[in-house]
Amino acid sequence: MIVNPVLGLVSAINGLFDRAIGAAGLSPQIRGKLLRQQLDSVGRMMPVLVAASLVVVVAVLALTWRSVMFWPLLVVGGVIGLIGMHSVSLAVDWRHGQVTVPPGSASRSVIYSAVLGTLWGVVVNVLPIEQDGTMRGVAAMGVSGLLCIAMMALVNYPQALAAFAIPLVIGGLAAVLGLSSSLDMWMHGTLLIGLTLIMAVIARHHAAAFVAHRGAEALVKEKGEIIGLLLREFEQGASDWIWGFDAGGAINSMSAGFTTATGVPEAALMGADFVDFLRCITPPNDPLMTHLERDMTGRQTFQDVELRVTADGRECWWSLTGKPAVDESGNYTGYVGTGSDVTERKAAERRIALLAHHDSMTGLLNRTKFTEQLNSCVARLERYGTAFSILFLDLDQFKAVNDSRGHMAGDRLLVQVAKRMQAMVRETDFVARLGGDEFAIILPNDGNVESASGLATRLIEQIGHPYLLDGEPLSIGVSIGIAIAPLNGTRPDQILRNADLALYRAKADGRSVFRFFESQMDSEARQRRLLEVELRDALLNNELVLYYQPVVAASDESPIGFEALIRWNHPSRGLVPPAEFIPIAEQSGLIVDIGDWTIQQACMAAATWPEHLTVAVNVSANHFRRADIALIVQKALAISGLAPQRLEIEITEGLLLEKPDEVIEKLGEIRALGVAIAMDDFGTGYSSLSHLTKFPFDKIKIDRAFVGASCDDAVSRDTLKAIALMGRTLGLTIAAEGVETKEQADFLSAIACQQLQGFYFSRPLDSMDLPHYLLTHVLTQAPALKAAAEAKLAGLAG
Ligand code: C2E
Ligand code: CA
Ligand code: CA
Repeated sequence: MIVNPVLGLVSAINGLFDRAIGAAGLSPQIRGKLLRQQLDSVGRMMPVLVAASLVVVVAVLALTWRSVMFWPLLVVGGVIGLIGMHSVSLAVDWRHGQVTVPPGSASRSVIYSAVLGTLWGVVVNVLPIEQDGTMRGVAAMGVSGLLCIAMMALVNYPQALAAFAIPLVIGGLAAVLGLSSSLDMWMHGTLLIGLTLIMAVIARHHAAAFVAHRGAEALVKEKGEIIGLLLREFEQGASDWIWGFDAGGAINSMSAGFTTATGVPEAALMGADFVDFLRCITPPNDPLMTHLERDMTGRQTFQDVELRVTADGRECWWSLTGKPAVDESGNYTGYVGTGSDVTERKAAERRIALLAHHDSMTGLLNRTKFTEQLNSCVARLERYGTAFSILFLDLDQFKAVNDSRGHMAGDRLLVQVAKRMQAMVRETDFVARLGGDEFAIILPNDGNVESASGLATRLIEQIGHPYLLDGEPLSIGVSIGIAIAPLNGTRPDQILRNADLALYRAKADGRSVFRFFESQMDSEARQRRLLEVELRDALLNNELVLYYQPVVAASDESPIGFEALIRWNHPSRGLVPPAEFIPIAEQSGLIVDIGDWTIQQACMAAATWPEHLTVAVNVSANHFRRADIALIVQKALAISGLAPQRLEIEITEGLLLEKPDEVIEKLGEIRALGVAIAMDDFGTGYSSLSHLTKFPFDKIKIDRAFVGASCDDAVSRDTLKAIALMGRTLGLTIAAEGVETKEQADFLSAIACQQLQGFYFSRPLDSMDLPHYLLTHVLTQAPALKAAAEAKLAGLAG
């Protein structure tokens, strides 16, 4: 209970001393740090003081040995020793462990010092100074020596020094007053008081210097922590420049980088209002700037605030970090901070974001983003009933461009097509590339049939305009399928599927057209799937049959061979034409088995015909690419025993567009067997002269479209003439198919077409009609063969 008033008194005295040495005006934080350093220095010197005290104790004990004073002095010496040891151990403890001053340790050091001083003051008085000259000398030396050592040890903490010195000096004075010789008394007294005063002045001066020095150091350190942090950033290259402004907001410091970044000379920047300056270079009403201003008004630290600025004549991004600064007394003095130009990183970030959402080649939305947009359209539809449209686009024959002109050219074409698409839609519409040559357009908030069909018409027209690729003109078409939500579906998958079905229809309807989804497309799609399943069994069930259409010589209309044409004798649908199931067979891969069967079947049939008759087999490009055609042909010839010269393989131009080298090699292998190659449907696809010269053909078959138009279309007639002439020049056999009239037949013979085929001569014949045809058209000229055929006919009939 007495401890409290004592501590209170001590702390009052403490404050007095602080004022004397200039430590009172410091901020509590810095005072705390300073006190720590004071006690630190006291603690460091404590062992010296204790050691000196013990030396004096030992000396005094030696002198009072066997006197009555020995034992009391021994007790006093022991107490001094213990206190000294204890304070040393305390000092050592907290110096090693803690950063802050342990509570009460300042007061304790003062109290301990006071106790030590008091004990020494008492010791001086109990010594038998009066009787013994030596003892007087020891006492004087002891007091002054202890004072000197105490001064050295405790000077940085004058409170402790005073607490030690005052009782000691009082004790010393008391001892001096007890002297009987007045000369001695005056001499010792003056000396002691003079020494004490000098010591007090020096100590105050020293302590004040210590406080000033360490206080300033602590302040600099605190400021340095802020600046150091900024500087570290600066040095580590995380920032490009340093800036600062005063309490009034005027720029007062900057590094060279700041003037470079702003493009404004230092003289113009100095003194300018920092916030005003930023406002000038950031976009008006920039929310980030508002945020930053709020931070600075509230004197908040801010870090890595990224601002879009126009500096040095270009748009860039800055990242700013700043901290409010305070002076020694804790008053706000402005801001210091760093900044860096992060334009490049920002640009990279934007690029990454763009990549995540956009197709890197065309810059259109990618599939992910498209799905996202579609989903949000569906969400709007569900919430507000907002209708929207989807257009699916697929370029016609893009693969051919890719194959004939190379992938790079194909890519460049896609970029141009994408540009045209983008230019034709409204800003609110979304254009996406879903992959390859597939595109999609979403018209959000627009479920109008007219606007969708209007856009589709314009797209087909615009995309159809020729392009210039590597200086060469090139054309491409586009087919479009349209689905409107909610009319054609309300779920994303449903809408997409229906747009896809509409596109399928557009493709099937001859390309470069658009089609809206219709409900029967759905059932048609189901039909196709069903057909695919049934087609798998068709081969096993012998439902596939070959018909043979005669090919005649233009000169005398005598048959020279047959073209094998496949049919599917479906148990419930009847005879299904190849146009309906060959595409399905191609998609499902069944074409390989069907194709192999056809080649073999045709060879076996032809082997039974008169020997001068040939057989032509259509080979789908899909089959040709997938299989080792030469091997299959070889096998078929071996099994049937048909002479290779009697077989002809018909391929279409589509085959020539992809991997031409591989195709040439395969065609070469077939020809090496002695089998002829004919190019079918000539004139429809990408007919180019280079195909004819590059690929090893024996024959071209002019497409029936030209033949059909030849009667009433002069252009078709000219085309036919040109083809015939070209074929002759290249040494190829020229055949024409789809001949339906005598007129056509006559015209074709007149332009030197060598072979003719068509309904005018005969429809494709089944196995029942074929023997009869052979009998009437072939064997009339060869009686021996006729007899054989008649016998066969009789056998068949039987
Ligand atoms: P293609 O090779 O051009 O066959 C000729 C087509 O024209 C045949 O149709 C034939 O019946 C028809 N045609 C013949 N003369 C005339 C005529 O005077 N007027 C008209 N309008 N048409 C005539 P088909 O048999 O329906 O075959 C269609 C297409 O299916 C064929 O065209 C061919 O590309 C393909 N194809 C037929 N059989 C096979 C086959 O076994 N394998 C493969 N891969 N495709 C085949
Ligand atoms: Ca053909
Ligand atoms: Ca044909």
